[in-house]
Amino acid sequence: MKFENIGSKLLSFAKSSTITCSHCKKEVKKSAVEKSNYICPNCNLYFKMPAVSRIKSILDSYDVISKNPDIYDPINFPNYKEKQVDMRKKTDSMEAVLSAVGNIKDERVVVCVMDPNYFMGSMGSYVGEEISRTFIYAKENNLPVVVFSASGGARMQEGIYSLMQMAKTTMAVNEHSEAKLLYISCMTNPTTGGVIASFASIADIIISEPHAHLGFAGPRVIKQTIRQDLPEGFQSAEFLLEHGFLDDIVPRENLKEYIYTLIRLHKNVRTIN
Ligand SMILES: [Zn+2]
Repeated sequence: MKFENIGSKLLSFAKSSTITCSHCKKEVKKSAVEKSNYICPNCNLYFKMPAVSRIKSILDSYDVISKNPDIYDPINFPNYKEKQVDMRKKTDSMEAVLSAVGNIKDERVVVCVMDPNYFMGSMGSYVGEEISRTFIYAKENNLPVVVFSASGGARMQEGIYSLMQMAKTTMAVNEHSEAKLLYISCMTNPTTGGVIASFASIADIIISEPHAHLGFAGPRVIKQTIRQDLPEGFQSAEFLLEHGFLDDIVPRENLKEYIYTLIRLHKNVRTIN
């Protein structure tokens, strides 16, 4: 499957419409938003970025390595198959994750991106399998991995099978790590539930885009469980950086250069060792 096929389809779909910014309330052309890395030209709000656009913004050249997904419904959840068909038409994505191998300048890297527009980027069996396959591919090819996560958590329509993906992806990350290969996790708005509780939080370097909502459960559930008032903004990227959960917050327009620098630094350390 070639990346450009998916990309051109998405762009033609996007050019036909406009979107209203949820922050400044102004209507902006989707084509203008795409050109500006999905940042609102009026108020700098970060829009959710389709997986294919994220890959394009990071890699100079690439090939998609994701397998074509089947429609999967492991617990016969009511209307799940129909909803998947609708979701594919609505988003022009085949599933909630897309992986590609390619280059940032002279460095080869595997990039895996969750699509927040597809079932809220939730992790079902396909997503877990694809993320695991991506890490195994990177290990076999001796390559670093960058994962851009954006997720509402586990996919409820797949029940226990979606929760099992937490263990599966964690094992694949560990195998990649044991080969002394670099894994960078970049959390984007929002990263929650089973994704932040598994592969998104166990990288060598964990970064986030500014103002991202990051957390495991919602504030109400946590308050009911621990019976304590929670600090203001405790699930923001800025709060988590201050308290040591993140290594850095990187603006979207700087991510490509930042990731390139990290890969080069890690490579130099490996060479010295
Ligand atoms: Zn705006």
